[in-house]
Amino acid sequence: MIIVMKPRAKEESIKAIIRLLEDTGLTAHLSEGKEVTIIGVVGDKKKLLEKNVELFEDVDKLIPVTESYKLSNKKFHPAPSVIKVKDIEIGGKELVIMAGPCAVESKEQLFESAKIVKESGAQILRGGAYKPRTSPYSFQGLEEEGLKLMAQAGQEFGLAIVSEVTSFKAIEAAEKYVDILQIGARNMQNFELLKEAGKTKLPVLLKRGLASTIDEWLNAAEYIMSEGNPNVILCERGIRTFETATRNTLDISAVAVCKLKTHLPVIVDPSHGTGQWEYVSPMARAAVSAGADGLMIEVHPRPEIALSDGPQSLNPKKFAALCKEIEVLASIMGRGFGRDI
Ligand code: PEP
Ligand code: MN
Repeated sequence: MIIVMKPRAKEESIKAIIRLLEDTGLTAHLSEGKEVTIIGVVGDKKKLLEKNVELFEDVDKLIPVTESYKLSNKKFHPAPSVIKVKDIEIGGKELVIMAGPCAVESKEQLFESAKIVKESGAQILRGGAYKPRTSPYSFQGLEEEGLKLMAQAGQEFGLAIVSEVTSFKAIEAAEKYVDILQIGARNMQNFELLKEAGKTKLPVLLKRGLASTIDEWLNAAEYIMSEGNPNVILCERGIRTFETATRNTLDISAVAVCKLKTHLPVIVDPSHGTGQWEYVSPMARAAVSAGADGLMIEVHPRPEIALSDGPQSLNPKKFAALCKEIEVLASIMGRGFGRDI
């Protein structure tokens, strides 16, 4: 349920509604627009039935929110959310590119990657330290040592950093080193992990589950937000379909759907979305054209010797070329990127 106040409603009227909701055991979420304030109500709305909220001063109307996700719902918060990370705004005018290797392998590999990322105008360095690999015999990541290297590379090259967390222990470690926590596709419905991430103060990049609907994805975001952390960034990374020509089927339409259903920023990962470097740049361009707020791209100084996801990683030259294309597309889309700003 949302309570829409009349244009330019008085502050006392808004406060009176919030007080009423709190006294009724409900939670109020305020969204103040230029003219109209919306109060989102979370809790058992039956409790409101006898309260005659419509009759309160400056109340315009009550609208039921039928979706089970509320805080991530655009009806609760019509303006797009802009998430600040250092001096970067995700979901704002500028397109944000997060790039780097699938996994942190060594200081040399990571620093080489960070240099490429920085020089191409990308703002955020990615790199996995806790790797959720399909086979337990594949490289599992450098764990806390990898996070330390990420923090050093971020410092050295002036990049914010994002890294995946796969357990409570990983969250505890990552809080010391990273700017954004990543929850990977395999953990999108690990509700205890989502709640733990929701208890931190760090923005959370939430990847779409391998076989999750958009509704399930937005409910996963709700798990994080309902713990008090509003800073969730959605990342479309492809879903399982019958198609075998690509690793996953990148659902570009999810960008348009999310823009209609949620105020949260949406970025696209065409690397995991396709699994093959040849498809990464075309899908990155498609994502930006569809209205994505940014991209996550796997880049490796030498993809042929990468310890994970080499086939889908761009080499430095290809990544630099993609960033130039994104710069052009960004301006067509009325946005900016890199040196354009
Ligand atoms: C990753 O970004 O390193 C990763 C494992 O991605 P996903 O969770 O989308 O598979
Ligand atoms: Mn990867």
